[in-house]
Amino acid sequence: MYNYTAMLSNTFRGGVCLAEEKELTVGKKTKEIPAPKELIVPLCQHIGSPNESIVKEGDAVRVGQVLGDAKAFVSAPVHSPISGTVKSVQNFFHPVFGKSPAVLIENDEKHEPLSTSVKNDPARLSKEEIITIVRNAGIVGMGGAAFPTHVKLKVPEGKIIDTLIINGAECEPYLTGDHRLMIEKTKEVIDGVNIVSRVLGAKKVIIAVESNKLSAVFAMKKVIKPPLKIEVLKTKYPQGGEKQLIKAILKKEVPPGKLPLDVGVLVQNVGTCFAIQNAVCDGKPLTERCVTFTGSCLKEPGNYIVKVGTRLRDVIDYCGGFLTPPAKIISGGPMMGVSQYTLDVPVVKGTTGVLFLSEKEAAICEEMPCIKCAKCVDSCPLRLLPTDIMRMVKYSKWEYLKELHPSDCVECGACSYVCPSKIPLTQYIKLGKIKELNKR
Ligand code: SF4
Ligand code: SF4
Repeated sequence: MYNYTAMLSNTFRGGVCLAEEKELTVGKKTKEIPAPKELIVPLCQHIGSPNESIVKEGDAVRVGQVLGDAKAFVSAPVHSPISGTVKSVQNFFHPVFGKSPAVLIENDEKHEPLSTSVKNDPARLSKEEIITIVRNAGIVGMGGAAFPTHVKLKVPEGKIIDTLIINGAECEPYLTGDHRLMIEKTKEVIDGVNIVSRVLGAKKVIIAVESNKLSAVFAMKKVIKPPLKIEVLKTKYPQGGEKQLIKAILKKEVPPGKLPLDVGVLVQNVGTCFAIQNAVCDGKPLTERCVTFTGSCLKEPGNYIVKVGTRLRDVIDYCGGFLTPPAKIISGGPMMGVSQYTLDVPVVKGTTGVLFLSEKEAAICEEMPCIKCAKCVDSCPLRLLPTDIMRMVKYSKWEYLKELHPSDCVECGACSYVCPSKIPLTQYIKLGKIKELNKR
């Protein structure tokens, strides 16, 4: 049994309690969407150096073939999720980068693999071999950040990772893909956690799950063995932020401008652990992922396994279309996601969910004057002063910005959410961050 009082104290200062909106999808089993006739696979789906295309129009490609890669360490190759013919390599819509180079592939429906799949026993692989497999499989952070995973696993010399935290918080409203993964692919996720733990040599391994996902906790409890341990955290946004997880679980602060590894911690998302297991044990590159498609406009909201490069239009067709045309489409969660203006954007490695919201759900309110209530200050998990930053940006008082540390903002959106005057504080702070970065 769980100690619910302890659970509620497992959290960080600030943040907000949001309407969860997860009931549309959380109870439904994940379904696989077949690959459509054409895929648009963006060459760059990670944070870091962009990839160059290594295929051209007319080339035949097979499942798992590398389409694009870069020499830089901070990069991740992209692979073909299908077999077929390259129709073109040109700019297409991208859910985050606007228009960006991508490979358009016509599906030959033959599903021809590049090679027969290789099964590995991770216990027989060295740490370096595992990191190389992760890099070559193009794995990036699946919680939405899309930072190349092999870079995170290669801990700089002189740094020691004492604690590995596995992020199963999934704190954004609407999203339930990680929750379903922990229930439906429990063993694979835990095998992935063990692989990461071995690479890092972490003494403590803690799987962090919010208190609204007890079914995932019970599923994982049946599979884990020491030193793996589960911590149930208070359901509060943004509980899944790396610094907030570290504060909630270890009661440690990551100083401004520093990384979790500076306090001996590394955080990995559960979806990333699943992708690592697939790559290391089964030789599968990252070419598909679980995505929550939801919102009141959809006929069949749910979690779907989707090939990277599948356009939203094809997913919607497969899921039975719309009940009503959406007023707003968001790639990601409602707090940190990016608005989309076309259904021709593809699913990419970092797509956690896509929301199709009605006019009521997406209501945009008019900005009113600040009433100095300080709710934004109380909500900020980074202890920033959102209202002061907003004022400096609004009135171009750039010289006072630095001491307010806008660059520490993680753009969680909590301050904008609580503001009774509906001031888009996060947008102002993002502008302040850009000004600060440009000064450096
Ligand atoms: S200032 Fe940044 S980190 Fe703080 S609540 Fe607002 S968006 Fe989140
Ligand atoms: S929450 Fe909004 S109204 Fe209240 S102090 Fe902050 S900016 Fe002003």
